[in-house]
Amino acid sequence: FELERVGVHESVDPVFPASELSSYLSDLPVDVDVIGDDEIDACDAVVTLEHREAFLEIDWVHSIQAGVDRFPFDALEANDVILTNSTGIHDRTVGETVAGYLLAFSRRLHEHVANGTERRWDKPAWDDAFTLPGTSACVVGTGTLGSGVADVLGALGVHVTGVRRSGDPVPGFEEVYANDDLLEAVADVEFVIVTLPLTDETHHTIDADVFEAMDEGARFVNVGRGPVVDQDALIAALESESIAGAALDVFGTEPLPEESPLWGMDEVIVTPHCAAFTEDYFRDTGDIVRENVDRLDSGEAFHNRIV
Ligand code: NDP
Repeated sequence: FELERVGVHESVDPVFPASELSSYLSDLPVDVDVIGDDEIDACDAVVTLEHREAFLEIDWVHSIQAGVDRFPFDALEANDVILTNSTGIHDRTVGETVAGYLLAFSRRLHEHVANGTERRWDKPAWDDAFTLPGTSACVVGTGTLGSGVADVLGALGVHVTGVRRSGDPVPGFEEVYANDDLLEAVADVEFVIVTLPLTDETHHTIDADVFEAMDEGARFVNVGRGPVVDQDALIAALESESIAGAALDVFGTEPLPEESPLWGMDEVIVTPHCAAFTEDYFRDTGDIVRENVDRLDSGEAFHNRIV
């Protein structure tokens, strides 16, 4: 297709200002403008966070997220719309966020922050704090996010194993299990960390059986997508203390409803789906768009093409 105008849809604004990305791409040989819903039909391509029905009339949609579960693959394909995503850029950001959660648990930082809001000088019990070297983590999903998590945790002395469909080895992971061996993989580790995309196949992959298989002292982390986890089973496992805590960036319903019991639990860290946030986000996304504009020009296949 002929690319003349790229719109940066205003739905990206919660992640970075749309205007930052449009100026970053202003040297492309095509028009790049910030657009609202009423200007979609005047574009050939759109860079976006959210989906809109009007995207079915254009040639190319680029998702600023790696997760594309919000897009209707069949309808896009039926209308010959190309969908690309932003996988490949969130390794370091999410890796550091997950390291932050683990350091909070081991050095009790979330407890101190909570005490601080009430001006309370309370030390943790003598045996609550620990250090990370020698602990082990099982990362479910060994792609960009999983590999970034493995890199950062490996540098902190954590033994990292992984779970993926094939079970084939991945650099940075001491051992990799196949999805079928998930229950074995999550037993006997201090941390279980989920970085899976949401698909029909991964929905509720983490269920009551997984929490049952985990150690009582283990903590659970989800930075993939909320519905990959049976959240009711997670809450039940936390309430019955069959696991020791959780750090969660993604939820079954977002924003996490005010009445959710997850907000009130001492050993649960809640972050508002921002594990990958960074001031560089618009540049990292822009580089993928630029690469694909170049590829379109030279007739090569798109990078990160999903549909
Ligand atoms: P990748 O595609 O690089 O990695 C996905 C991994 O999941 C692969 O290693 C894949 O391995 C594994 N996997 C295991 N089972 C399945 C299955 N049934 N279907 C598909 N994959 C499977 O994606 P990213 O690491 O970039 O992102 C992963 C997800 O994390 C995104 O889809 C998004 O939902 C979420 N995300 C969340 C963010 C946040 O802010 N919290 C930020 C960025 C991403 P194999 O193919 O070997 O099975």
